[in-house]
Amino acid sequence: MSFSTTPQLDRRIFRSCSPRHVSRARRGLVQGIARAAQLLRVTPTLLATRPGRYIFAYHRILTPDEASQEWCHPSIWISPETFEAQIAHLQKVGRIVSLQSLLEDTTTPGNRFAITFDDAWADNYRYALPVLEKNRIQACFFVPTQAVSTGELFWTERLALQLGHAASSGSAGALIDTLCIPGEQAIATSPAGMLALVLDCVERLKLLSDADRDAAIADIARTLKLGAGNTSGRVMSWDQIRELHRLGHEIGSHTRTHRILQGVDAETVDRELQDSKTEIEREIGASVRYFCYPNARYDQVSAARVTACGYERGFRMHNLRMDAASQPATVPRFSVAEVNGRIPLLDWRLAMSGTG
Ligand SMILES: [Zn+2]
Repeated sequence: MSFSTTPQLDRRIFRSCSPRHVSRARRGLVQGIARAAQLLRVTPTLLATRPGRYIFAYHRILTPDEASQEWCHPSIWISPETFEAQIAHLQKVGRIVSLQSLLEDTTTPGNRFAITFDDAWADNYRYALPVLEKNRIQACFFVPTQAVSTGELFWTERLALQLGHAASSGSAGALIDTLCIPGEQAIATSPAGMLALVLDCVERLKLLSDADRDAAIADIARTLKLGAGNTSGRVMSWDQIRELHRLGHEIGSHTRTHRILQGVDAETVDRELQDSKTEIEREIGASVRYFCYPNARYDQVSAARVTACGYERGFRMHNLRMDAASQPATVPRFSVAEVNGRIPLLDWRLAMSGTG
């Protein structure tokens, strides 16, 4: 399926996940959180009764104002305050250990946690690193090498920012006309609706082939007269990544171009896996053992290639604790964000999770 090449974009694909569905899902989420918070008053120490090994996946650390200015997806940001509160809580109910230690030590009893970050965001260096250092925590940073080498964002984040800038600089009407399904314009008039519209557009573009997506993005840019915008300065430099490594943090690969590896041929998968591994090893002067899938999407081909390309482990995103049966190429990580990461909701989510 492709977008048309005229300014009138093909809207068939837009119907599969409309802003109306997004806002309905969000209402359900808020109600679920409220119900969970009530339950937690009755069962505050649930996690202590069901100890396990958990790997956390973080993306951006931002203040709420920064997250709003960045048009950031709610599932990928957490405030510095909530992050620090989580670290303090995890150290109370268990031990935070390095990813390697968590993977290899299967016998120490009690709760153990490992901390990982995806995408090499510069805000990790600014906000998370001081907290990690203060608490003597060794984390793992999964790095998409092209973004670090060029300083430029990958297309998903770049487009969200460009659309967001357009919306906040007076082009909201044109944005709604271009991206909304007819009849749904009213939903997009609030700031939350505009954010849902922008993120929904990015999600639907992920479903297209590279060529169709490039054409669709060019079409959107032409229709909305999108400027390049300032999309640099958000990713860590190699100097910063080398400093993380010197401080004892693990550096893993997150592909070269942040390409989603699901449905991709083995040769392309190998290039992403091998080129990024080689590049990171050259930059930090140490071996790269771990890999995580962009957008947490993988299939049998990509999972098989991870270990074949020399990685010890591949990591997916799935809210499960680890157990002995966790597959080396698809180790589960627990997604944590501001929207679902406050204590005691986090405690409850961990306690109620299964294994995988
Ligand atoms: Zn990523």
